[in-house]
Amino acid sequence: MEQAALSDNGAQVKWLQRSALAAALVVAAIGIAALAGWLFDLPVLRSVIPGHVAMKANTAVGMVLAAAALAACVRPDWMPLRISGPASIAVALLGAGTLFQVVTGVELGIDTLLFDDPEALRTGRAPGRMSELTSASFVLVGVIGMMACKRIGAWLGQALALVMLVLGLFALSAYGYAMGTESGQVAFTPLGINTALCVFLLALGWLASQPGSGLARVLANPGLGGELARRTLAPALVAPVIVAFAAQVSLAEGWLSVGATITWMAVASGLFVAGLVWWGANLLDRLEREREHSRRLEASAHTDELTGVGNRRAFDEALAALLARRAKGGSDLCLLMIDLDHFKRYNDSHGHLAGDQALRLAGALLRAALRPGDIAARYGGEEFAVLLPGVDAERAAMVAERLCRDFRIADWPYEPVTISVGVAEAAPGETPQSLVSRADAALYEAKASGRDRAAVAQSGSA
Ligand code: GH3
Ligand code: MG
Ligand code: MG
Repeated sequence: MEQAALSDNGAQVKWLQRSALAAALVVAAIGIAALAGWLFDLPVLRSVIPGHVAMKANTAVGMVLAAAALAACVRPDWMPLRISGPASIAVALLGAGTLFQVVTGVELGIDTLLFDDPEALRTGRAPGRMSELTSASFVLVGVIGMMACKRIGAWLGQALALVMLVLGLFALSAYGYAMGTESGQVAFTPLGINTALCVFLLALGWLASQPGSGLARVLANPGLGGELARRTLAPALVAPVIVAFAAQVSLAEGWLSVGATITWMAVASGLFVAGLVWWGANLLDRLEREREHSRRLEASAHTDELTGVGNRRAFDEALAALLARRAKGGSDLCLLMIDLDHFKRYNDSHGHLAGDQALRLAGALLRAALRPGDIAARYGGEEFAVLLPGVDAERAAMVAERLCRDFRIADWPYEPVTISVGVAEAAPGETPQSLVSRADAALYEAKASGRDRAAVAQSGSA
């Protein structure tokens, strides 16, 4: 049961894939906006905060390609899957080419292929050249994209995505420093906040794109652990970046001393972690109570109050499900229709309350006699139905005989109550109505031939 619940994670998988697609769409939009910024010379589209580091034109192209590769992998019905490979290769080559230029000093001419970069003259950097961090991210995301859609190396792909996630978070928090200083003072070539956000989103998108395996498995879990992961991972990733960002700005602007900044950062991080744990614990607590409550409701909606066995609704649902399984070539299935003998007379002699007491005992006898996989239900009045999955007619008849004997020798308060049982084995493709009516016919036969016995129905035709 628990196993079935855990593997039934369609809704969670969809949510993760939608998140991955949303990440791809945001990255594509940011990339296209930056390209428009270069094309129409609109600094706000290139760098968000004019005067600060801009997303380079090559970066923008790479982002659009990387977003397309991710989208094609997650939603092949939207975007042909076959573009994912070539787009990923192009992104990886763009990143590798730029890194090659940085390492060797060789000019490949790819930086200003699309647009000139007059702002670069002010900072003394190679015009149009994307940051090393961006180039490394492109190599990573290109390799991830090449592997992902072939479904190879899920773990390796996710490990690379994690590295990329770290790069993205690093870039986002370090942007604070770049804001407060001349860009030349930063230890690495700074990248635009839009670029950093794209790196972060692409890494998250790829992590969420394969919910069935690896690190994302717990995210797709419908259990409490999955719920906790889905709700807390994003704040857990983003909040420290905001704290670090604030600290970086404080350092760059000289608002606080280094010691005071680090102290405040530590305090803020501690408070945040404690707050997140508190929030997560409350969340789990509430979810657990809600689930327990709905489990109880579910159980009581399927239980007969007087006898403690399943009610008619439980029986109808179980019968339909088991017959559907049988139709797909599943195992045998037998139905026992059980009716208390001369129960009207019992009621008339000893009163309705005594009748109820006897029905309660009948429920207890059935529950005690059956195996865990069997399903006993009150069909109505003083009639019960028992479903025996994986049992053929011959063994079902033995179970029925045993039940007759259990009732016969039970310790009844006034006088013994016996039962008559009709046994029917489901034919492949048989409907619930026909199985019940065949078992009913057998029950009638058992009554007619003297009661306190079982009769087996003719085998049905599908
Ligand atoms: P047969 O052996 O042919 O089944 O005879 P019977 O008297 O059991 O059959 P019949 O269907 O005529 O009567 C069933 C009786 O079961 C009628 C009713 O008084 C009793 N009964 C049905 N539901 C309940 C219940 O919830 N509580 C009590 N006390 N009696 C019930
Ligand atoms: Mg009856
Ligand atoms: Mg009866």
